[in-house]
Amino acid sequence: MGFVRIARYTEGDDPVYGLVDADGKKIAEVSGDPFYQRIELTGKVTTVDEVRLLAPVIPRSKVIGIGRNYADHAAEMGNDVPDEPMMFLIPNTAVVGPGDPVVIPTKLTSEVHYEGELAVIIGRMCKDIEPEEAKKVIFGYTIANDVSARDLQRGDGQWARAKGMDTFCPLGPWIETDLDPQDVSIVTRRDGEVVQDGHSSDMVHGVAHLISHCSRAFTLLPGDVILTGTPAGVGPVVAGQRVDIEIDAIGTLSNPFVNAE
Ligand code: MG
Repeated sequence: MGFVRIARYTEGDDPVYGLVDADGKKIAEVSGDPFYQRIELTGKVTTVDEVRLLAPVIPRSKVIGIGRNYADHAAEMGNDVPDEPMMFLIPNTAVVGPGDPVVIPTKLTSEVHYEGELAVIIGRMCKDIEPEEAKKVIFGYTIANDVSARDLQRGDGQWARAKGMDTFCPLGPWIETDLDPQDVSIVTRRDGEVVQDGHSSDMVHGVAHLISHCSRAFTLLPGDVILTGTPAGVGPVVAGQRVDIEIDAIGTLSNPFVNAE
């Protein structure tokens, strides 16, 4: 079995899930919610171009962000690398899908940055697991933009608003279930210009350690998402610009930025 990609999408009606082929061109619809139910092919096949892809998961419980998990990014922000993973929480109301606009609340912030990241999606409820067991609870991987209002991040003393505002957590374009999370490249483009070019082998704390560490603080539930941190090259993004984040083994997450009315 090769790559198995799972997308959530709509053709105008209620969202459904489907399996995406290796070329990223066709989607075979499935019935059921893959996080909680056995899924079955319905026999309906359509093309990716004909549907609207949605965030592949809307976490019922939480998105956990990890800060300063690449030494070069910690350094560019003037921070040391923490001994243990640094966690923050993002509400599920921040999640949007591929192509959806990130809305900059201009009354609250004037300094918004992109952060391209590999996102891990949890498939099984777990608590207090060892790193060696982490693989068993992973459903798959997608791409995240951990959009961050730097002025609020500095001023608020914690990061709830800076990283958790509505639309600040684009996820997608789909879930890749079969990849090595420590062997993917992460390339971010702002209006086509490469601004981040990192590799997940440079994570300070690898995915297995992150999951274990998070599970000691929180019960992890199916559909929970862990953002694994961003490599160097973060920078500002303003209304009218587009940010594309490409992870070779998954695809590209692309979002336009707009100002709030
Ligand atoms: Mg981040």
